[in-house]
Amino acid sequence: MVNDIAIARNDFPILKEVVNGQPLAYLDNAATTQKPQAVIDALVHYYQHDNANIHRGVYTLAERATEQYEAVRQQVATFINAASVAEIVFTRGTTTSLNWVAQTYAPTILQAGDEIVISIMEHHSNLVPWQQVAQRTGAKLRYVELTASGELDLAQYGDLLNARTKIVSLTHVSNVLGTINPIKKMTAMAHAVGATVVIDGAQATGHFPVDVQELDCDFYAFSGHKMYGPTGIGVLYGREALLTAMPPAEFGGEMINLVTRQKTDFKPAPAKFEAGTMPIAQVIGLGAAISYLQHLGWPAIIAQEQQLTAQAYQELTAITGVTVYGPTEPTRRSSVLSFNLQGLHPHDLATVLDMQGVAIRAGHHCAQPLMTDLGVSATARASFAFYNNQADLRQLVTAVQAAKEFFKL
Ligand code: PMP
Repeated sequence: MVNDIAIARNDFPILKEVVNGQPLAYLDNAATTQKPQAVIDALVHYYQHDNANIHRGVYTLAERATEQYEAVRQQVATFINAASVAEIVFTRGTTTSLNWVAQTYAPTILQAGDEIVISIMEHHSNLVPWQQVAQRTGAKLRYVELTASGELDLAQYGDLLNARTKIVSLTHVSNVLGTINPIKKMTAMAHAVGATVVIDGAQATGHFPVDVQELDCDFYAFSGHKMYGPTGIGVLYGREALLTAMPPAEFGGEMINLVTRQKTDFKPAPAKFEAGTMPIAQVIGLGAAISYLQHLGWPAIIAQEQQLTAQAYQELTAITGVTVYGPTEPTRRSSVLSFNLQGLHPHDLATVLDMQGVAIRAGHHCAQPLMTDLGVSATARASFAFYNNQADLRQLVTAVQAAKEFFKL
């Protein structure tokens, strides 16, 4: 269905932008994806027709807004195959989801001397919160290391796990290396020592189907804006029993059953986590994004992204002086390609590419310990979405070659 995918590009108005006199080749999808007209329309429609605060009003508009908001919770539950709608908490994004687990759930199970296992390829969002909780509780933070091919070292991971391991928190897909981690297997290994498993799904949910019951993880975090939805909305999936045990991170309106002068009785999960007025329009926009993805279907999305990534990998590595990081085996990686051109700082490379209309990211990608491990201070990163095409790829490769010639590298 490559044809449908080619047509789907037209659903994204921003992709018609001209940047510095060149057609926009948007290749920073790992930072945030563009929004299809269906998502933009859902936001506008909500504000034009249904805008009201949820859960409180008895009038028609409030009921309409509430119904739509709660319908998206069901949609999300189905999307990731959660066992129950009560396991879906709306948050501000992956960062908030991970922080809540680290700040409120983790301290209930951690004692001094316990261990938290994360990997060296974690985004700071799944690293700094664990450092903080380790400092607070006296737990020790331990790292799963990389193999030479940019994958997690499962043998070393196995050696790390022991009876003191209380939490294992891993990214599903690396935002730098593109590595798809064997989460199901790693979760089973963690459960065998009794650890709670938290997964950062920020780079996964827009790219391939995620089934939390199949993975068997305990918590799963992701962001709407990386899967064609609005910014300001994310999800924390948690097993019902864990969400029941987890204290709320924020307190205020709507999350209570009864407040007296000295005490409060909270609503059950997920309501007890959603204090105050939630990003209602963004939730509805997320629902539109999920519908859009389901309409396109995973096979077409995956085929297009894999094809572009494999081809970009080949063409970039063919340029002398270019190093591409991460797995060499295309099926072991998602649509993220980090690379460097010898002799040119990635920031300069990204600036030169921007002059050609090519939008890529350069920097440490919020993964400084990984950069240190790779022996670089920064990389350039091209990341693909299903709406990218051969023209985007040509623009990227031609611009890298031109930069090389211009700087006589
Ligand atoms: N984890 C990973 C792997 C990411 O790529 C990102 C976003 N770059 C995040 C977490 C944080 O997501 P957000 O900024 O949407 O909270």
